[in-house]
Amino acid sequence: IQKFMQINCNSLSLQPIIVKSMKVFTTNQSLQFCLASLKTPASCLGFVPTMGALHQGHLSLIKRAIKENEIVVVSIFVNPTQFNSAGDLKTYPRNLKQDLKKIESMESLGEIIVYVPSEAAVYGNSVAKEAFDFGGLELQMEGKFRPGHFQGVGTVVQKLLDIVGPTHAYFGEKDFQQLQIIKKLVKMTKANVKIIACSIEREPSGLAMSSRNIRLTTGERSHASKIYEALKMTKDKFSDTPLDEITQWVADQFEKDAIINLEYFEISEQLTLQSANKIEPQKKYRAFISAYIRNIRLIDNIALN
Ligand code: AMP
Repeated sequence: IQKFMQINCNSLSLQPIIVKSMKVFTTNQSLQFCLASLKTPASCLGFVPTMGALHQGHLSLIKRAIKENEIVVVSIFVNPTQFNSAGDLKTYPRNLKQDLKKIESMESLGEIIVYVPSEAAVYGNSVAKEAFDFGGLELQMEGKFRPGHFQGVGTVVQKLLDIVGPTHAYFGEKDFQQLQIIKKLVKMTKANVKIIACSIEREPSGLAMSSRNIRLTTGERSHASKIYEALKMTKDKFSDTPLDEITQWVADQFEKDAIINLEYFEISEQLTLQSANKIEPQKKYRAFISAYIRNIRLIDNIALN
């Protein structure tokens, strides 16, 4: 393992890291060779795709994957095709060394394989996104404000699922629209993998954990909890207040706010993600918020019923 680490991590300009039961691979061949040696026809292989800058939200997915699978693969790959702004891609937090330390400290829970591919390993020589039709899921909310984002997400997730070949893949409800799109992708492509939805991990203030939070100042970070406050109030109001009144109330909260810039607030039916006009009792609804603090984009959502 030490030898593997040295060879593979040198290409990432990393100092070799002392590992016990964590294995790190940067090439598809070395990853697949290792998986082939560990897998039996009966084993469950859990996969947690991430873009790194790991926090407790990511770690909760990894912990769940460890609990439910004999083998766990965590990928760390900042996917260029899902960014619709070069600046956002450039400033996206990256800290591979710390990420590996965080995963390594989970070793007592089981052995973990970390896959840190290069762009070429994932995309070959064509870093391009495919044009998926997710039946309209991709046109709502994030899709409106980040055109092409879900085409990039679909492209990378399909490639990673092909490379890793998991039986189970773990995604956070923090990115609820993404989760629904991945479920749709798996259905469309008839991929033989179960998608597991994991609940949102929050800071004590209520702010949803996100890799982007480290770009906030301490003051901004505590102020950002207002996003979750608005979602909780939405949930309180949901059963007895007309939807347009709730929407106006949320808009008013942020209108007066000099720090948070609301991008959108939506109450949507959770399967189709269509904006709700009236509530049908047998259906499930969620409220979604996207907001900026300076150029830092924060998203969050809450189940309403
Ligand atoms: P990312 O690195 O942002 O692409 O996230 C990787 C995975 O972690 C995605 O499935 C996210 O939905 C999930 N995730 C991110 N933040 C949280 C959170 N606060 N709670 C639970 N899951 C999260």
